Amino acid sequence: MCRAAAEKLPQLATAKNAFRFVSVSNALFLIVRDPRQLGRVFIDASGDGDLTMWAGAPWELGDGKGGMLHPSTMFRLNAVAAGAAEARAWKGIPAIMEAAERDEGMRFLRKTPIIRPQKNSIEWRANVTQVTNPDGSPVDGTDAVQLSHGEIEGRRQIRDSFAFMRARVPSFRDAYIVDIPPQLGIRETRRVLGDYVSTEADVLECASFNDTIGVNGWPIEAHVAGDVLFKWQDIPNARGLKARDRTWVEALRKDSPPRS
Ligand SMILES: Cc1cc2nc3c(=O)[nH]c(=O)nc-3n(C[C@H](O)[C@H](O)[C@H](O)COP(=O)(O)OP(=O)(O)OC[C@H]3O[C@@H](n4cnc5c(N)ncnc54)[C@H](O)[C@@H]3O)c2cc1C
Repeated sequence: MCRAAAEKLPQLATAKNAFRFVSVSNALFLIVRDPRQLGRVFIDASGDGDLTMWAGAPWELGDGKGGMLHPSTMFRLNAVAAGAAEARAWKGIPAIMEAAERDEGMRFLRKTPIIRPQKNSIEWRANVTQVTNPDGSPVDGTDAVQLSHGEIEGRRQIRDSFAFMRARVPSFRDAYIVDIPPQLGIRETRRVLGDYVSTEADVLECASFNDTIGVNGWPIEAHVAGDVLFKWQDIPNARGLKARDRTWVEALRKDSPPRS
């Protein structure tokens, strides 16, 4: 079925620079080399609402005052001690950090490290950084200068947190870094304002709608300054939020100006 559909597509793979967007004074121009490639519907999959912004559809950024979820640069370790995964060695790490803070005055930019084994149990992933600007505010993924700073700051935090892990957590004594991502991991930038905007209550109360297109299985995970806060559904009585198609799809049909 997929192959049959693909054969009907124009040969985009060979049509380099087939189209590009140009934004002038809130107007969106789509310049196409081949008019057969001009779609009627465009899906904004930029993660940052770039197309939404260029199209002049409504969006908002964080809390409107520079506050948004903090980004993280993750990394992967190899040669973690055999048996550490089965022993759930990650559970002891917050206590080791707390002791270092209490007894030695160490300061960590982020509590609540998320460190877990991968499928191969000697390889682990570490989600421990919280990438901030020099003033402590979260790096804004729509700002190129802040992003450039964030790429360096994330790597600096990896260096420091890995050194701590190797020195203090016995299972990581012989571990080494096997992978650092090519880009900072952005959690939140622009939110597209469709006909309906999902709320925290929708997530926690597992809202249902009659135009559901997917199911969310995650709680609220808020990467706030210095910590990660989880808010859970009423487990085991809960199931996921059923996301609405109108949450996203209608946004680009609006012709109102951007809100911010
Ligand atoms: C550190 C971290 C850990 C996470 N952990 C989890 C987890 O464990 N489980 C989970 O479910 N979710 C997790 N998430 C969230 C998850 O990664 C995101 O929700 C998801 O990746 C969003 O997918 P997306 O396709 O909307 O956007 P993205 O993954 O951001 O993809 C957008 C793509 O569009 C490209 N792009 C942007 N602008 C343009 C442009 N103008 N032209 C061409 N290309 C463009 C970008 O390069 C990118 O490849 C995590 C996020 C972070 C940052």
